[in-house]
Amino acid sequence: MDKITEAVQLQNDTIKSNELLDISKRIELLLKLKEVICDNEQRIVDALKADLNKPVFESYISEIDFVVHEIDLAISNIRKWAKPQKVGSPLTFFPVKSYIYKEPYGKVLIISPWNYPFQLLLDPLVGAIAAGNTAILKPSEMAPSTAKVITELIESKIDKKYIAVVNGGVEETTALLEQRFDYIFYTGNGHVARIVMAAAAKHLTPVTLELGGKSPCVVLNKDLDLSAKRIVWGKFFNAGQTCVAPDYVLITPEAKDTFVKACEKWISYFYGKDVKSSSDYGRIINERHFDRLNSYIEGSEPLTGGIVDKSEKYISPTLVSADSKSSIMQDEIFGPILPIVEISDLSEAISFIRTNEKPLASYAFLDEASEKDRFISEVSSGGMVINDTIVHLSNPKLPFGGVGESGIGGYHGKYSFDLFSHSKSVMKRSFLFENSLRYPPYQGKLDLIRKIMSIL
Ligand code: NAD
Repeated sequence: MDKITEAVQLQNDTIKSNELLDISKRIELLLKLKEVICDNEQRIVDALKADLNKPVFESYISEIDFVVHEIDLAISNIRKWAKPQKVGSPLTFFPVKSYIYKEPYGKVLIISPWNYPFQLLLDPLVGAIAAGNTAILKPSEMAPSTAKVITELIESKIDKKYIAVVNGGVEETTALLEQRFDYIFYTGNGHVARIVMAAAAKHLTPVTLELGGKSPCVVLNKDLDLSAKRIVWGKFFNAGQTCVAPDYVLITPEAKDTFVKACEKWISYFYGKDVKSSSDYGRIINERHFDRLNSYIEGSEPLTGGIVDKSEKYISPTLVSADSKSSIMQDEIFGPILPIVEISDLSEAISFIRTNEKPLASYAFLDEASEKDRFISEVSSGGMVINDTIVHLSNPKLPFGGVGESGIGGYHGKYSFDLFSHSKSVMKRSFLFENSLRYPPYQGKLDLIRKIMSIL
């Protein structure tokens, strides 16, 4: 029996056993997950370094600690989240009580990408387990060191009848998608998302699709220096390979030079004069992505940066001038190159953004309250930050997800629990009182019922 069939059969048996309806069992699994992560932090940091040269600081705040905080949050709140919620009932069926019960879907498939290869696999897992599901995890084959560590850690501590890991590329993912799952959670690009959704449709399996897009960043405020600092940080974190990284900047011609100079200043402040030797700056995941990004640099005259070294998959923080027709403005960049596009005012910026697909995030640096309100109401995107970048996903009280081309569904914190739970409507009636108005023969009852309903 191959690994996929075995994991599927084992997990189907777990679901039949009702074991994970017991919240103590879910908490036990989450505690095991936390323990195995905390006991092996260094191995995880090393793997992320091997795959992406990820700085230690970034490995903790955006991968390890991120997941551990989600586990802690779930453990502290799971009983509250799982409690049936009492809602009102129509008097027509008095006496009656109505509730929403959260029930697990069953067996969940989680497919993740390579840029945050630890967090994007384990964070949804926390929600899936908290909600009482079993899970099969498919790490990205493009971050092989992290995939290996995750597999070893999970297999060493947790029975695959609850959580199983299947490694591989297209062939293995295709085989997984042929199985019947009760929920599929996919993070990655829109092309594969369509393959996942088509496979899910065969079994009417619900999906969450966490995708990307070109996240705009409008800069129309006065404090260009602070704006540049926050944009440089959000853009070059993980060497620009962040789904919510600012993809491009929209700014007026008058402010452009000052802004570019401020970016240069912050780049050398953050990473030193020799960025390549900085332990705080990452590398491009592989040669294919390096070549793709390098072709953008070759086709432009960088305003700053533009230094590359293929042997190290290094691309320096780079700013280029661009307009809507530039090749760099056609697809999500997903790397450390920031195009600067000129616009004359907020109206032009908003219409520029709206001619493109709805992005995963949008950012606007603005001073006036009326301009902020206008941006919030007229720009549709998965999430949004006014006067900063990427920080919204650190708040578990906000759902994280896309809209349109940038995805379907949102998670983090309680939203993850809700996402992986079916909300079952339950009415509990009693035998104390019987109102016979609803039963045939209906003759003469309709007017009376309609009168009662209008009063109620
Ligand atoms: P990737 O290449 O690692 O692919 C993601 C997953 O899809 C992998 O597990 C891979 O094995 C699987 N896969 C690839 N081809 C497949 C196929 N033909 N059939 C079935 N499965 C297949 O990662 P990627 O797609 O390059 O990731 C980058 C994209 O993900 C960017 O667009 C980025 O914005 C987006 N992203 C979104 C989020 C988010 O939370 N919304 C987070 C990170 C990345």
